[in-house]
Amino acid sequence: MATEIVVIGAGAIGGSTALRLAQGGARVTLLDAGQPGYGTSGSSFAWTNSCGKTPRHYHDLNVEGMREHGVLTQELGGDWYHPGGNVEWKATDEARWALRVKVERLIEWGYNARWIGQDELRELEPGLRFDPDEAREIAFYPEEGWVNGRALGRGLAAAVERASGTVLLGQRVTAIETAGGTVSGVVTEGGQRVAADVVVTCAGPRTDTVARMAGADIPMANTLGLLALTGGGEPVTHRVIHAPACHVHPYDNGAAMLHIEQYDHSVTRDTVPDVSLEGCDAMLAAAAGLFPALVGRSVAEARIGERPIPKDGLPAVGKIGADGHYVVVTHSGITLGPILGRIVASEILTGTSDPRLEPFRPDRFQKVAAAVSISA
Ligand SMILES: Cc1cc2nc3c(=O)[nH]c(=O)nc-3n(C[C@H](O)[C@H](O)[C@H](O)COP(=O)(O)OP(=O)(O)OC[C@H]3O[C@@H](n4cnc5c(N)ncnc54)[C@H](O)[C@@H]3O)c2cc1C
Repeated sequence: MATEIVVIGAGAIGGSTALRLAQGGARVTLLDAGQPGYGTSGSSFAWTNSCGKTPRHYHDLNVEGMREHGVLTQELGGDWYHPGGNVEWKATDEARWALRVKVERLIEWGYNARWIGQDELRELEPGLRFDPDEAREIAFYPEEGWVNGRALGRGLAAAVERASGTVLLGQRVTAIETAGGTVSGVVTEGGQRVAADVVVTCAGPRTDTVARMAGADIPMANTLGLLALTGGGEPVTHRVIHAPACHVHPYDNGAAMLHIEQYDHSVTRDTVPDVSLEGCDAMLAAAAGLFPALVGRSVAEARIGERPIPKDGLPAVGKIGADGHYVVVTHSGITLGPILGRIVASEILTGTSDPRLEPFRPDRFQKVAAAVSISA
C-alpha cells in the first residue's frame, strides 16, 4: 500500500479523496493554493443531480454521487447538503418535447422523476408565480438537491485533519518531483517539499497545468459561469427551480442563488466578480418575476466559476504520466466529488481497478491522439 500521498486541490473532489485515503490508513497531505472549497466548488450552482447525464454509465455514477452526499452528511454531520428536489418546465414546444424525451429516458433508467400538476407545484413552492400556459408540463425530480460548496470544502478539510491527515493551505504546488520515472514528492511556491509515493491531482480547472508537472497531458475545454447571490432574508424557495426565465435555489441565511446561462458568455477569466455586472441585475429581475418576495432585495455577491471539463465532456480519472501520479477531474464535480473520492481512494489503497471508472480513464486522450497520428 502507498504510504505517503499528496492530494493537490482541496475542492469537492480533492477533499473527498484525501478524506477517504486518510480514513483508509494512508499518510495524507492535502495541499491547496488557496482555501478549501474556494475554487470552482465555491463558485458553482452546485445542484446534485443526474438529470441530463448520458451515456448510461455516466448517469449511473452521478446517481451514486447524489446518494453519497447523504452518506457523507450523515457521517460528518455537516450543514452543506440540501436535498429537496428540483422542478423544471420549459417555455417552447420544442423545449417541452426535449423535456418529455429526457423524462421518459430517466424513468426508463429507474431515476426518480415524475410529472406534477400546477396545484402540486403551488403546494411545493407557495411563493412562486408562474405563467400557467407556459408551465403546462412540469417535471419533478425529488432526490435532487444543492450544496454549499464552500462549506463542503471546509467540512472535508476539517474531516481530513480529524482522520490524522495534514492540510496545507495557501501553498501552490509548482513542481511534482520524480525519481526514476516515479513520483517522489511535490514542491510548493514557498519552496516547501512534501515527499510522496503517490500524487493525486485534483486541481479542478487547473488540472491540465498541474498534471503537466507529472508529464501528463489532460486536454480540457473549460467554460466560465456567472452566478448571483441575493441578500438574505425570509427564504423564498425551498428547492432547485429550473424555470425558463431563471435557475434559482435557496442558499444560506434565506438568500437565493441565481443563474441564467446566457450571462455565462458575458464574463472572461479577467472579469472581476462584482454585483454591478449587467448579468447580476438581469438575473435578479428574472428571479423576482418568479418570486415576488425578491422584489426590493439586491444582489449581495457575484461569483464567477470555471467549470473543469475534460475535452470530451466526461470525467478523467486514473493513473497518467509518471508512475504514482493519478488525476481526478470532471464537470459535475459537486455531484460526483464524494463518490469519486470513495472509489479513487479504494483504487489507490488496494491497487484494484474499479469497473465503474473504466470508461473514464485519462489515457483515452492519448489513445485518440495516437490513432489520429497513425492514420494521418
Ligand atoms: C457556474 C458553474 C455551475 C456549476 N454547476 C454545477 C452543478 O449544478 N452541479 C455540479 O455537480 N457541478 C457543477 N459545476 C461543476 C463543479 O462545480 C465542479 O466540477 C467542481 O466544483 C470541481 O471540483 P474540484 O474539486 O475538481 O475543483 P475545485 O473546487 O476548483 O478545486 C480545485 C482546487 O485546486 C487548487 N489548486 C489548483 N492549482 C493548484 C496548485 N498548483 N497547487 C495547489 N492547489 C491548486 C485550487 O485552489 C482549488 O481549490 C458548476 C461549475 C460552475 C463554474
